[in-house]
Amino acid sequence: MSLLELDNLSKTYPGGVRAVSEVSLTIEAGEVLGVVGESGCGKSTLGRTLLRLIEPSGGSIHFQGRDLTSLSRHDMKAVRRDLQVIFQDPFGSLNPRHSVGYIIAEPLIVHGVGDKASRAKRVAELLAIVGLPEDAASRYPHEFSGGQRQRIAIARALALEPKLLVADEAVSALDVSIQSQIINLIAELRQKMNLAILFISHDLSVIRHVSDRIAVMYLGRIVETGPTETIMTAPKHPYTQALLSAVPRPGVTRADRVVLKGELPDPANPPAGCAFHTRCPRVMDICHTKRPVLASPGGTLAGEVACHLYPH
Ligand code: SF4
Ligand code: MG
Repeated sequence: MSLLELDNLSKTYPGGVRAVSEVSLTIEAGEVLGVVGESGCGKSTLGRTLLRLIEPSGGSIHFQGRDLTSLSRHDMKAVRRDLQVIFQDPFGSLNPRHSVGYIIAEPLIVHGVGDKASRAKRVAELLAIVGLPEDAASRYPHEFSGGQRQRIAIARALALEPKLLVADEAVSALDVSIQSQIINLIAELRQKMNLAILFISHDLSVIRHVSDRIAVMYLGRIVETGPTETIMTAPKHPYTQALLSAVPRPGVTRADRVVLKGELPDPANPPAGCAFHTRCPRVMDICHTKRPVLASPGGTLAGEVACHLYPH
């Protein structure tokens, strides 16, 4: 049994935008799964739907063997202890009127964990874990930089020792040098706490540093999955190849680059057949009418791909 198992998870918004279509994936305890794709591909909806911050339109979410889609709000609250989330904008998610100490302790208060003294002790521990000084507890969010605020958001998310953390563009708003500090912190915490992470980013060069495996999304669907090493060195789907082209790597010259033409199509009206066919440099006749299924490409190749170039 995997820690998290999504089976055909879908989310259609009112108005018909199918943000997430039939996504099936698993995350093991302690594993980091990177989800990458352009803005608007449904990554954030996927993250929010699996936490039931958004109600799914179809499919199932099994967490530690329980189907979250069948839980009442009350039962869901208990499960939330083990499922935490951090977002792109730590300022927006930190109440400016509360002290940092209160912000970090709030999940403990909500779940009735400990008394005032033990919570204060836990806040001090968490501040040390994320590399902030102890006196940060009595200060307020606006007194901290963007990177420090993301450390506060991480401390808060870790307060209840979750099993799974969803990190949605958690470093995207930060300067590159600060990004790597936060990525290193996340990688370190994951080791120490056996924390599984769904790490969502539009940036493959960020994702590759933290992920054991990568899932590539295009217009609401997973188009390729595989171990990070395989995705970074031998991507199979033309869309993954295009994303990877934008990442500077040794040995890859300009001439090898795949450049994506056109814009992301309207998610309310995705192209028939393979949804990527309007932009694919390797499009074939079959791609206009038949949707490729996500499956192992066969042979010795690891991972799964949804593309007619790999018949199975
Ligand atoms: Fe390109 Fe066709 Fe593969 Fe889609 S199925 S990625 S259009 S080759
Ligand atoms: Mg998003």
